[in-house]
Amino acid sequence: MTIKRNVSLAPYTTLKLGGHAKYFTCASSEKELREAFDFAHSQNIPVFVLGDGSNVLISDNGFQGLVIQVKICGINFEDITRESVSIVASAGDSWDALVDACVTKGLYGIENLSGIPGTVGATPVQNVGAYGVEVSDVVKWVEVFNPKTNSLEKLSNKLCQFVYRGSIFKKEEGKHFVIVRVCYILSRQKKLHTGYKDLEHYFKDNDTEPTLKAVREAVLAIRSKKFPDLSSVGTAGSFFKNPIVDEREMQRLRALFPDLPLFNMQDGTCKVSLAWLLDNVGKWKGVRRTNVGVFENQPLVLVHYGNGNSSELKKLSDEIAKDIKEKTGLTIIPEVTHVGIF
Ligand SMILES: Cc1cc2nc3c(=O)[nH]c(=O)nc-3n(C[C@H](O)[C@H](O)[C@H](O)COP(=O)(O)OP(=O)(O)OC[C@H]3O[C@@H](n4cnc5c(N)ncnc54)[C@H](O)[C@@H]3O)c2cc1C
Repeated sequence: MTIKRNVSLAPYTTLKLGGHAKYFTCASSEKELREAFDFAHSQNIPVFVLGDGSNVLISDNGFQGLVIQVKICGINFEDITRESVSIVASAGDSWDALVDACVTKGLYGIENLSGIPGTVGATPVQNVGAYGVEVSDVVKWVEVFNPKTNSLEKLSNKLCQFVYRGSIFKKEEGKHFVIVRVCYILSRQKKLHTGYKDLEHYFKDNDTEPTLKAVREAVLAIRSKKFPDLSSVGTAGSFFKNPIVDEREMQRLRALFPDLPLFNMQDGTCKVSLAWLLDNVGKWKGVRRTNVGVFENQPLVLVHYGNGNSSELKKLSDEIAKDIKEKTGLTIIPEVTHVGIF
């Protein structure tokens, strides 16, 4: 394991923003992960665990500790019954390559999550979701390295405390865990989720029969219009979470904005379409502030056009949050993990 000093983090993120890490290393095995933590303990410095950097905003001041990029790889497929298959994938594996492999093998369950950038290890962290499916729907367990006990532990789906764009791994009690493997249970039985508005329209407009492969293709086609090309601009996808409100708040918003799309959640709360508010109330779509801006096709997506810095993006996101608070009364929260001091 090599530990490098003073490494620029911007190239390790899809936003292409951020300062330097005091120390940086890649861990390709559990042994290297332990060694990395031993080093951090010996230096008495904090650790930040990085995947592919597609959901982080790193401060221009960088991170005054050790950044560990998890590169542990390897996937195992195992039949449990005639219908269900267990897939144990390692944290450093590419999430979309896994989705592709599952679709090719005829396994149902994660096809709606096609095209989400990043690693397997990050999928439980914010409970990645898209087009009516969340990864928590198929996670059986998550294996973590606990640096406090220097041991591996398995957390069941329940212990992961999954919620909309959140889990134990985002909370104080679970922030220190390093995910090393995730077990997903998929099915050979045909069960598609095509009820999400965009998917429904896609299959209607294209007059095609939804199949496992067709759903993956549909999701990839829809996403290619919703998100900018990562090779030309920086982005971390949706910058903010959709607000979750209770019944009373829902009535207030409905009275204020009769056309606002609201989605009922299983627990009786309601998810508010922030994209609609940003577009129709805030008029944020396509707004540009020098080197950063709001994507013209999807206002939840903030972009970095190049030559910018994290402070500019943070300033824009604060400006948007303040504007939405003033116009709607809603507090909006970033989905993107902020690293370092802003
Ligand atoms: C164009 C674009 C589209 C996107 N679309 C979606 C979408 O549809 N739905 C969605 O939910 N997200 C979406 N995202 C966000 C992002 O792709 C996901 O959150 C993804 O899971 C992040 O993976 P990563 O490996 O890049 O994680 P990173 O950005 O490197 O890390 C994200 C967080 O996870 C933690 N983490 C990473 N690996 C581990 C590990 N092994 N153990 C413990 N903690 C870890 C990090 O510390 C950090 O807090 C999108 C992003 C982009 C750029």
